[in-house]
Amino acid sequence: MLLRDVTIPNGRQVDIRLEEGVIDAVGRQLRGGPVVDASGLRVTPGAIDVHVHCREPGGAHKETWETGSRAAAAGGVTTIVDQPNTDPPTSTVKAFREKTDIAAASSIVDYGINAGVTKGWDGATLLDEPIAALGEVFMADSTGDLGVGMDMFEEALELAADADVLVTVHAEDETRFDDGVRDRSDANAWSEYRRPAAEVAAVARACEVAERYGTRIHIAHASTPGAIDLAHKWGQTAEVSPHHLLLSTEHLDRLGTFGRMNPPLRDESIRSAVADRVHHGSVAMIATDHAPHTIEEKETDIWSAPSGVPGVETMLPLLLAQVQGGELDYEAVARLTSNAPARRFGFGRKGSLSPGSDADLVLFDPTDRRPILGDELHTDCGWTPFEGYEGVFPHLVLLRGEVVYRAPWADSNLPGSGKGEPFGPIRGKNVVEAD
Ligand SMILES: [Zn+2]
Repeated sequence: MLLRDVTIPNGRQVDIRLEEGVIDAVGRQLRGGPVVDASGLRVTPGAIDVHVHCREPGGAHKETWETGSRAAAAGGVTTIVDQPNTDPPTSTVKAFREKTDIAAASSIVDYGINAGVTKGWDGATLLDEPIAALGEVFMADSTGDLGVGMDMFEEALELAADADVLVTVHAEDETRFDDGVRDRSDANAWSEYRRPAAEVAAVARACEVAERYGTRIHIAHASTPGAIDLAHKWGQTAEVSPHHLLLSTEHLDRLGTFGRMNPPLRDESIRSAVADRVHHGSVAMIATDHAPHTIEEKETDIWSAPSGVPGVETMLPLLLAQVQGGELDYEAVARLTSNAPARRFGFGRKGSLSPGSDADLVLFDPTDRRPILGDELHTDCGWTPFEGYEGVFPHLVLLRGEVVYRAPWADSNLPGSGKGEPFGPIRGKNVVEAD
């Protein structure tokens, strides 16, 4: 395929030639075919969302690999990294291989699978599997359902350093939560309970342990400027979720229990300090912490509602809409959603429009803004915290050169999936094995 006159993130209009699933050449007046006129469109490298909870096995009523990966494709995410807190948790070789089989059978986008650390995890043998990273590891003082006591945390970081595996960390220090708000029932109480200081203290501790063992760590869903600055100072990386970038406690009147996630939404001054760091470079990447729950599960009191919001389908559309608002440029979007995660997680064929890279491409019309509507999204949970926000959605998404998603509103000259359906027949691969 030859994409003719498409605009790349730096604003140049070029041709991109694809050959056997790979970007073969980028330049002016290339030869080849079949030719696709992309003159009204821009392209960005397929987004890599390193923080997705696909929910299978064990939580298929919330999301499956099929629905989650469809949501990803429709949102321009061509690689997802799945998290280990499924049932059973992905903390044994057996559980890792079982999850890999599910993903291979049903994911329509490429994927990495993280291994988890829980009581009784398989340790070094698990690190020999083709895992994307170890984590997210839930730091805690004691070993609970998910929380990993500090002894096990140190053991995991030491093993990961030996195996040269990246560790992603859910950093909140539960001993610093504010029990004084436990008798309240408003949604704000969750944010005040899991206060900013609990995150900053945990990030400091994680970075110190990592420094001691020489471990590469990545802070998941950093929600405070303090957490971002610490990770940056120690030479580690942090991701920020779209909800921490765009939403604050001021939105809790509207969201109620649907706005409960960990770490929680912060007040507007913290949100804008986080956004400033996203816009000015000290945040390595955006990742969604896509954590779907059903509407029924969320409709309860703030202390019983499960934590998490969906996000994989709306990340790129929201960021592309931010470009229109002048907060970001297209090169920054490509860096935050694709170049940086590929580099940090070692997905060598991903994250770039350079020749030799996988032809994972998202074509979009920057002027085509659409409202985000929960019941039109492809995630199985049927809602979004960004209801009514405007997004710039993909028109065409290619995975290794094949159509994985073609929007119903795409121009008729763009290639289709071959069956008149939005999603193509391509299946995802484990990016770690493919490398
Ligand atoms: Zn987390």
